[in-house]
Parts: sequence; structure tokens; C-alpha cells
Amino acid sequence: MKSNNISEKVSINFDVQKIREDFPILKTQVRGKQLIYFDNAATTQKPISVIERIQKYYLEENSNVHRGVHFLSELATKEYESARETIREFINAESIEEIVFTRGTTEAINLVANSFGRTFINEGDEIIISEMEHHSNIVPWQILCEERKAKLKIIPFDDNGELILDELENLITERTKLISIVHISNSLGTINPVKKIIEIAHSYAIPVLIDGAQSIMHSKIDVQDLGCDFFVFSGHKIYGPTGIGVLYGKKEWLDQMMPYQGGGDMIKSVTFEKTIYNDLPYKFEAGTPNIEGAIGLKAAIDYLNKIGLDQISIYENELLQYATEKLSQIPQLKIIGTAKEKASIISFVLENIHPHDVGTILDFEGIAVRTGHHCTQPVMQHFKIPATTRASFSFYNTKEEIDQFFNAIQKVIKVFS
Ligand code: PMP
Repeated sequence: MKSNNISEKVSINFDVQKIREDFPILKTQVRGKQLIYFDNAATTQKPISVIERIQKYYLEENSNVHRGVHFLSELATKEYESARETIREFINAESIEEIVFTRGTTEAINLVANSFGRTFINEGDEIIISEMEHHSNIVPWQILCEERKAKLKIIPFDDNGELILDELENLITERTKLISIVHISNSLGTINPVKKIIEIAHSYAIPVLIDGAQSIMHSKIDVQDLGCDFFVFSGHKIYGPTGIGVLYGKKEWLDQMMPYQGGGDMIKSVTFEKTIYNDLPYKFEAGTPNIEGAIGLKAAIDYLNKIGLDQISIYENELLQYATEKLSQIPQLKIIGTAKEKASIISFVLENIHPHDVGTILDFEGIAVRTGHHCTQPVMQHFKIPATTRASFSFYNTKEEIDQFFNAIQKVIKVFS
């Protein structure tokens, strides 16, 4: 995220070499070359403390939660619920009732689309998203709109990859029931002015869902300060395990929403005549949850808290500035996504070279980048390109790695010239 005038002082305290020691996978050799991992927007690597915490769970604590009176079940329940409290504190939610565990961002959005949708969306209603959404913040709404005969409206972005906010108020009508917006675009790197969007939406009493899949690891999130009604993210993008994610929802909404799935744990009592649903957040957590996932996510958050998201934010912004300056020196390279406010994600195209070829040659140099449409096909359509190459940096990356990346891109250009 954007740096500020204390950046130099703080980044001096940031010992990246020491941090790299915490991530054993960074030592991997790729066909004799040292791995350079620039695919952090797809998933992040895991510190040893997360790996060991999951191992400890299976070695010493494994049991099903909420249902047992025995020692291990109580222990697993305590650890699982303590993870919920850590997450509550991490995003500053008011209560643990507002923290629902899901499989990830995708499931959290589907949960809202289903539960909020079935409760509040009727024929002729409208939902607003933006042109830069990940498919997981498009398709669930399309399915809902088709089912309910509702309408999906789109906030466009300009050629820098910045939302055209003036359009938002033109799109809002009295039928607008929800706005669902990505905080940081995974293909453009744009940091959207979500606080402003929430203010506008709330002035019309419209709730807002923020897709925080790409923002949760780059900056401090305070859901009460943002004022959002829903905030969703995935554990694996924040140095935690896959298969675990979080839906934050304001209690006033979650209370009114129908359950997402039915099953064990989400009920208080069941008879064939009537089932009474459980209290929040369990009403939305049917079946045996991903216990080790929640516990691993807690360990990831504990790790991040030790380093400090403020420092991470400043250091990653330095990497972004450094890489942007370097890549801008390559005349055949065009950066896609040049918003003023960006996170450490750089998408680019190379003249007359397909991104898949770029990615393949970079892999021969040990450099992991992502190529493709990044599950944002409307973004590709906006720029009339099939795909981009995307490098996304984490706090364990270095300027030296960016130098090697720069040299490897020159090699790619040479190969194809
Ligand atoms: N939204 C954004 C902005 C993303 O970057 C991603 C993951 N690439 C998702 C949603 C979906 O996340 P997941 O696959 O972890 O559910």
C-alpha cells in the first residue's frame, strides 16, 4: 500500500533475510535455480509456525468440536473458538457472532448471495458490482439475479484501472439492495476507495460487501472503521492454510438472513415439524468445520501481528515502487493497471509475446509468476487483451529478486526477437 513519510525509518527495521528463514519453501531450487516466488496474489507461502501449529493440532488436539464432553473435544473446541476471537480482534469486529468460518472468499460471497439473496432480493431488485471484480464476485450474483429476476449493474473503470465513482450514484436507484465491491483488484492492483463507496451507499441505506481477498494481507483492516456490512477473505492469501476463510457480517444482517446450508451444528433443535436454528455464528456453519484450518489461520495472524501490518504495508509498497520503476524502463513492456493507489501487484504485457510464453520462460529462471486472465475476464475485455503476466510481491520478497526478474524479462524479449 501507499507509503508515507515514516517509511524509511520503519523499513530500516524490517529484516527481510531473517523473515525469509521463517518460510522453508523459499529455499526451493527450481531446476538448479533459486526459487523466486512472485505469485503471492494467488496464494501465499506458509511460515513454519503455521505448519507446526497444524501438526500440533493433529498430534495432540484432534477431535470434533462443539459436540463432546471429553477432554480432546473440549480442547479442540477451545482452540477453534480462540481462532474466531483472534480473527475478530484482527479485523476489529464488534463480536464473535459476526465471524463466520467458510471455505474461503468464494464460499463467503456465495453464502451472502444465497442467504441475503433469498431473504432480501426480489423481482426487479438491483445489485451493483464493478467491472474489475474477480469471477467469484460476479457469478454468484448472476446466479441470484437469474433466479430472482433481479438486475446486476456494473460500475466501470477507466484505462488506469480506477473506478469511475461518478457513475455509482447514477447506477443507484430505490431498487438497489446491495453493493459488492473488491477492495484491491487481483489483476490490476488498484486499491479502491471502499470507505467512500460505503459512505455513498449508506447515504441511500444500501449495505455493502467488501471482497477483501487481496487487501487482508497488505494493510490493517478495521471493519468498524470501514463501516462495511460484510467483509470476506481467504486464509491462504494471508499465510494461513487453504480451505478456510471468513465472512464478517454485521449482526443486524446475519440475524435476519436465512441459513446457507442445513445440517449438524447449525441447529438448536430438530423435529419433523419444526427446526430451530442455532445462534450466530453457528447458524451459518453446518457440518464439521475445517478445525485445523481455523487453528492454522490463527497461527498465521499471530505471526503477522508479530511483524506488524504497518511495516509489511510500507515494505511491500517499496517493492512495488522499485519494480514499477524497473519495469517501466523496458520499452516493449506495458503495465496494465496504473492507478494512483496500488498494492504490490503488477500485471503487464510484452509486445508480441503471449503471457503464457513469458511465464514459461520465467519458470526456467526459477521465477514463479501467474499468467492468464486471473479470473477477471471482464478486465481483460476492457483492455482488449487475452491475458497478462502478473507478479505479486510479499514482505518476504526482495529488491534483488526484482533485479533478477528484470533481467529474466530481458531474456524473454531476446528469445522472441
Ligand atoms: N476475490 C479476489 C479479489 C481474489 O483475488 C480471489 C482469489 N484469487 C478471490 C476473490 C477468490 O478467493 P478464493 O479462491 O480463495 O475463494
